Amino acid sequence: MTAIIDLRSDTVTKPTAAMRAVMAAAEVGDDVFGEDPTVIKLEERVADMLGKEAALFVPSGTMSNQIALRTQTQPGDEILCDLNCHIYNYEAGGPAVLSGVTCRTIDGEYGVLDVNQLKDKIRPTDDYHLVRTRMVCLENTHNRGGGKIYPIDKIEAISRWARAAGLVMHLDGARLWNAIVATGILAQKWAAHFDSVSVCFSKGLGAPVGSALIGSRDLIDRGRRIRKLFGGGMRQAGVLAAACLYAIDHHIDRLAEDHHNAQTIAEAMFDTPGLKPYPPQIETNLIWCRVDRELGTAEAITAKLEERGIRVFTAGPQTIRACTHLDVSAVQAEQAAETIRKALKRPATVKR
Ligand SMILES: *Cc1c(COP(=O)(O)O)cnc(C)c1O
Repeated sequence: MTAIIDLRSDTVTKPTAAMRAVMAAAEVGDDVFGEDPTVIKLEERVADMLGKEAALFVPSGTMSNQIALRTQTQPGDEILCDLNCHIYNYEAGGPAVLSGVTCRTIDGEYGVLDVNQLKDKIRPTDDYHLVRTRMVCLENTHNRGGGKIYPIDKIEAISRWARAAGLVMHLDGARLWNAIVATGILAQKWAAHFDSVSVCFSKGLGAPVGSALIGSRDLIDRGRRIRKLFGGGMRQAGVLAAACLYAIDHHIDRLAEDHHNAQTIAEAMFDTPGLKPYPPQIETNLIWCRVDRELGTAEAITAKLEERGIRVFTAGPQTIRACTHLDVSAVQAEQAAETIRKALKRPATVKR
């Protein structure tokens, strides 16, 4: 029996031996006192990469996004975001609970909004009946959008409009690294259009824990207080920051392999009648796929593949997701593709 190939998520990666070695050797201090040299090094490094003044190391992307909201909104404000975005759907109602803001969702194309969908969504400020529109949140790459890369000209147009309208721009960049590698557009170029950016080290980059919020010095100073309020102040967190620094140095460029492997698996799905990967062109490491009812339910497909050593994620009654990542080799991606082709081929109809 060959080992299970786990394609459920790019969060299932385990720290490599080399990553564990730098974690074990990390210089540490009490970061709540601002004394952990490795955390400071990571924060400076990431701020520099994104061309901003400062960064804040946090345990999760959820906390990072929610700190961005809390520091840049007032209770009663409204944020504009895509219908399927992570901030609204997958953060346990954080915007309402932690910041007292409402989310106005707009149906993007694979998670991508056009500025013309936003222009009439801003509320006039001279009428005190109205909720105050305060912020625009975008997601790049877009998870539920099928790993879709936000075209940078779309971001630019939204940002120009939003800033002229006095709105704050936040980017949920949990997989910004994938967009950077797939397009060759540097982190700074993406980040320039936002007031705050959240990035994750625990997805494709393979660190066990860790995200960062990046922005102006003032924003990050206020964010540090909110992180404490949310229970995210960490002590000798340099052990974790060391893993993130290692991931930045060694695991960004290799995301191209994940993207290549995703194509291999996506091709098998495109070739299987009844499976419909989306968007029509798979762009990064995520393969979201609709399952026709005639082929079965998503759960049944997942079970069928699991029996054959391929683990995918049931993402809805007729939706599955497969992700490529650090712990899936090119050979394994080919094995997975082969298994999908064989296991999900519909039997030829019997003639009588
Ligand atoms: C994973 C993810 C996050 C953050 O998730 P955590 O599990 O809290 O680290 C945020 N946004 C997107 C799009 C994600 O995929």
